[in-house]
Amino acid sequence: MTESPYPLISIEEAWRRIAAVVRPLRPALQPIGTVLGRILAEDVIADESIPALPSSAMDGYAVIAGDRAPRLRVIEEQAAGREKGLHVVAGTAVRIMTGAPLPQGADAVVLVEDAIEQDGLLRVLTAISAGEYVRPVGQDLAAGDLVLSKGSLLGPPEIGLLAAVGRAEVLVYPRPKVAVMATGDELIPPHCKPKPGELRDSNSYALCAAIEAAGCEPLHLGIIPDDEKALRTAILDGVAHADMLLTSGGVSMGRLDFVKPLLAELGKVHFGRVAIKPGKPLTFATLQDLPVFGLPGFPVSSLLSFENFVRPALRLIGGHRALWRPRVHARLRHYLRHSTGRTEFQRAVVTEEDGLYWAESTGLQVSGRLKSLVGANALLQLPADVDDFERGDEVVAILIDRPEIEALAPGSSDPR
Ligand code: AMP
Ligand code: MG
Repeated sequence: MTESPYPLISIEEAWRRIAAVVRPLRPALQPIGTVLGRILAEDVIADESIPALPSSAMDGYAVIAGDRAPRLRVIEEQAAGREKGLHVVAGTAVRIMTGAPLPQGADAVVLVEDAIEQDGLLRVLTAISAGEYVRPVGQDLAAGDLVLSKGSLLGPPEIGLLAAVGRAEVLVYPRPKVAVMATGDELIPPHCKPKPGELRDSNSYALCAAIEAAGCEPLHLGIIPDDEKALRTAILDGVAHADMLLTSGGVSMGRLDFVKPLLAELGKVHFGRVAIKPGKPLTFATLQDLPVFGLPGFPVSSLLSFENFVRPALRLIGGHRALWRPRVHARLRHYLRHSTGRTEFQRAVVTEEDGLYWAESTGLQVSGRLKSLVGANALLQLPADVDDFERGDEVVAILIDRPEIEALAPGSSDPR
């Protein structure tokens, strides 16, 4: 019997080896129109207060709250925009628009609907107190405030704030570029009709989509035959043009499985087998410090390896602190077959009812059946040391449709 030269390691050990060598990319200044989903690599402090002047929160009249005159003379109008240098004195008011700077002397705004203006005279219909409908200086942000701290995930409000404080460019961890190649003599592109024995390459497309879904930039290198020379050239090409390289297929024990020996020849293989199902031959290497994952060929194995190992590694490279999908305890709606020896990730639909999570399998769980992932919102992590599960049993469910959170270790069976 031919033995693999690579020991079968645990999920935890595999992640330790990945985390030991994967580093965030060097931060770069980028225009704020391009930073959605990126991680901020600097603290951003406000130089100025917003609003910089006391301003009206509504359309109305700027007045002195304590003014007892029965009628106020409307002396001017102040719209949003340039400050006109107006003064409100006792017995007068200034017509004012939302966002306009409050004239000197005024300390409150009467709403349009709470006053009647006729022939330049204003009758105020309600009692009014100082400060009403006035936005004081620095209400939104005060000069010197920490606007956003290093490590923040940049979403729409964060990008809006950066614009508001005048940061047209910010220091962020760049979007990782990931090269993807499918390897296999049997593979043909999706637009071709397979001859007997041929198979359409689905992995490179699914992986490129997963890369995009992870906020990264895919670089599709196409199909490489099971030929050592062609593969060596393609791997070196991929490494030269990306921040990470993914290969699919060719990592098993077949005579034409050249990926592992080539990665060992060109760089350092950190592991070549993990005790998981599916995806046992998952391989991780570095070539000139660049991370390379050799993903197994079966479509489900390839995408699950991406979800469980590549995606968190890409998040590390992109400067994220939150690396792990949330985990919950879910009850099985039915019996589940699982053999001991490896941690298995079964695809399921998890729903919440009355505060409890319930899991239902997506059907036949073989590693070629990509449909077992279609519609799945969870991976049931079945431990290596327990066999079949009964209806009603609790299992750990990784919620793969939820954003990542911090802190949970990989392989953890301790949901929050
Ligand atoms: P391998 O790991 O190369 O031995 O491939 C294992 C199985 O996955 C074989 O049945 C392959 O035909 C299939 N496979 C490999 N690469 C791909 C791919 N890019 N797309 C779809 N199936 C693939
Ligand atoms: Mg192959």
